[in-house]
Amino acid sequence: MSAVLVVGSANADLAVPVDRRPAGGETVLGGDTVVSPGGKGANTAVAAARLGADVALLGAVGDDDHGRLLRASLADAGVSARYLRTVDRPTGVAYITVTPDGENSILVSPGANSALAPGDLTEDVFDGVRVVVLSLEVPLPAVESAVARAAEKGVRVLLNLSPAARLSAETLAALDVLLVNEHEAGYLLGADDADPRKLLELGPRAAVVTRGAAGAVVIDGDMSTTVESPRMTAVDTTGAGDAFAGALAAALAEGVDLVEAARRAVRVAAISVTRHGAQPSYPTAAELGVG
Ligand code: ADP
Repeated sequence: MSAVLVVGSANADLAVPVDRRPAGGETVLGGDTVVSPGGKGANTAVAAARLGADVALLGAVGDDDHGRLLRASLADAGVSARYLRTVDRPTGVAYITVTPDGENSILVSPGANSALAPGDLTEDVFDGVRVVVLSLEVPLPAVESAVARAAEKGVRVLLNLSPAARLSAETLAALDVLLVNEHEAGYLLGADDADPRKLLELGPRAAVVTRGAAGAVVIDGDMSTTVESPRMTAVDTTGAGDAFAGALAAALAEGVDLVEAARRAVRVAAISVTRHGAQPSYPTAAELGVG
């Protein structure tokens, strides 16, 4: 039994520093490849576990070195892998190029993550779960069925709409918390400058919009609360949104209210951008002074 169940992807991140990205038909030489454990689901699970939450990841990896890297990283953070299947597909890979200005561009090959299906969401996976967290690097039917079953069981549902995708009205209406960055909020609302309070008209009970260095906004009923970020010198923002999602879930599972949970999540994500990589950059509860 875990208090936080993350349903999502596990990928190997293959990051290459480049002066510039190749155009179609062009070859560019980059620096050495850095291989690290990633994927939105695995990152979120590790971020929550580092903060002391009892976490399981429901997902899939291949029987290969990348799959073993992910399993080792999850084990190291204390994430339960009892719902992590090994399937006959290569582990998902994110091909990341990083330019000198720190900007990433990412191509994801989902591989084993594509094997997740509604049948993986058996009744027992929700036993003892307080918060289920979803992100969208896995097939939508699995996500939508996880949302529906969690809602039926009275488990709190937090969905990180990343990467942005269209969800059914039923799924949106079953969410307790919709988590989006500004770009994803614009995608949902059809305009980048739309009022984020309109997100609740799509059905979720509450929404959190992350705003990079500006922190986040929490919209809960009639209340709209701005949560400022501490000022940080960002060296690598990879996985900042996943850190935020994991920290938010860990705090909600502890019974903290949504605004306070977002305050913690902003601090966790802000620390993560001061360090390289995704999972290696996530702070512990001791560093945060909580738990
Ligand atoms: P995503 O990583 O999903 O694109 P954001 O860019 O909004 O989402 O970042 C998520 C969170 O990471 C923010 O709410 C903030 O807490 C933190 N963050 C991101 N960039 C910075 C930054 N430059 N300085 C401090 N915190 C940051």
